[in-house]
Amino acid sequence: MLTPAEAEQQIARHLPSLPIESLPLAQCGGGVLRENIYAERDAPPFDRVAMDGIAVASATVRAGARRLRVEAMQAAGDSPLTLDSPGACIEVMTGAVLPGGCDAVIPVEQITVAAGEARLGAQADVEPWQHVHRRGSDSRQGALLLAAGGRLGAPEIAIVASAGMARVRVSSQPTIAVISTGNELVEPGEPILAHQVRRSNAYGIVAALRCHGFQRIADDHLRDDRELLRARLKFHLDTHDVLILSGGVSAGRLDLVPETLAALGVREVFHRVAQRPGRPLWFGVAGSGSTVFALPGNPVSTLVCLTRYVVPALYAAMGAAAAARERIALGGPIEIASKLACFVPARVDIDEWGRPWATPCPTNGSGDFTALAGTDGFVELPPGPNTFPRGFVTGLYRW
Ligand code: AMP
Ligand code: MG
Repeated sequence: MLTPAEAEQQIARHLPSLPIESLPLAQCGGGVLRENIYAERDAPPFDRVAMDGIAVASATVRAGARRLRVEAMQAAGDSPLTLDSPGACIEVMTGAVLPGGCDAVIPVEQITVAAGEARLGAQADVEPWQHVHRRGSDSRQGALLLAAGGRLGAPEIAIVASAGMARVRVSSQPTIAVISTGNELVEPGEPILAHQVRRSNAYGIVAALRCHGFQRIADDHLRDDRELLRARLKFHLDTHDVLILSGGVSAGRLDLVPETLAALGVREVFHRVAQRPGRPLWFGVAGSGSTVFALPGNPVSTLVCLTRYVVPALYAAMGAAAAARERIALGGPIEIASKLACFVPARVDIDEWGRPWATPCPTNGSGDFTALAGTDGFVELPPGPNTFPRGFVTGLYRW
């Protein structure tokens, strides 16, 4: 049986490579950049006034002038003026171009303006280039601002906009079919009988995918019926890049997912991983190139496998540079005797020194997903009969 790290490597080896598309910038938040972004102009593109106030020639004030005639007013967006007389000043607003002949700004709080004259307060002082954000001091025209492979969060989107690009090349999002299986499952909102169970996994999976920015998601539910499974899975394989199934991959008589996928020509890459929960995890690749993750149905297993394997694989398929693995110290001891790697749900608490600790929040087995409320993710503990002490450092996976 594969270890979690080996399963992860096998998945990486079989990922589809998703195409590139050019999208309007407003649709690119959360996407993976597939081109380098270079600076259109210097930043700032001109000597930028950084405070509301008056622009002056600093030498005049340093020579003792305390009353300066206001020659003009220049706001952000105005074409730049030039100071006619070095003994005067120009009223300026934050974001304006520094007028010609000026090399400093005195903030409005340090002056009074009356009858066309600015009087400097007693505390007003001036150094050359004070309150001026100098042209090119942030970055130069042509500089590499963002490299392909990065995720487009809020700062990155603003940077692309500043580079003047209305559209940007990003990875296509995968089309994903989320498919739950099981005769016992009933949709929220529908009447339910005592022997039935709510179909919660699909909602959890779809929510996780949406939180991670994946939008091209279809949702289906299939009963444990050979003919139906075969027909519907064939349809989903023909129409989606990625299938995420839950349930029907264990050893029960009605766990029909692996045999149905095999009959449809989906090649099994692995079935079962040496982990708890989530041991029956199944992964394979269809002739069409579609990738199939069949997750065990127990809800804790489903979410753990989704987080540990599927979401990182979706990012990798989009060409995202691998994120550094988060590591954390256990906030309390855990006793586990297992020959399998164990995933233990945890809450991240910050102590008074600002240090994060993973507080274990064990569940009552892999069916007890109500205990996951308020947890941040889970820690991965290596196999072996072990007590893991407080302070043991290990991988953290956030939901
Ligand atoms: P299975 O993997 O199909 O053997 O299912 C294992 C357990 O998970 C059973 O108790 C199922 O009822 C439960 N289960 C399977 N799928 C779901 C789902 N979509 N939502 C909630 N529970 C599920
Ligand atoms: Mg089932």
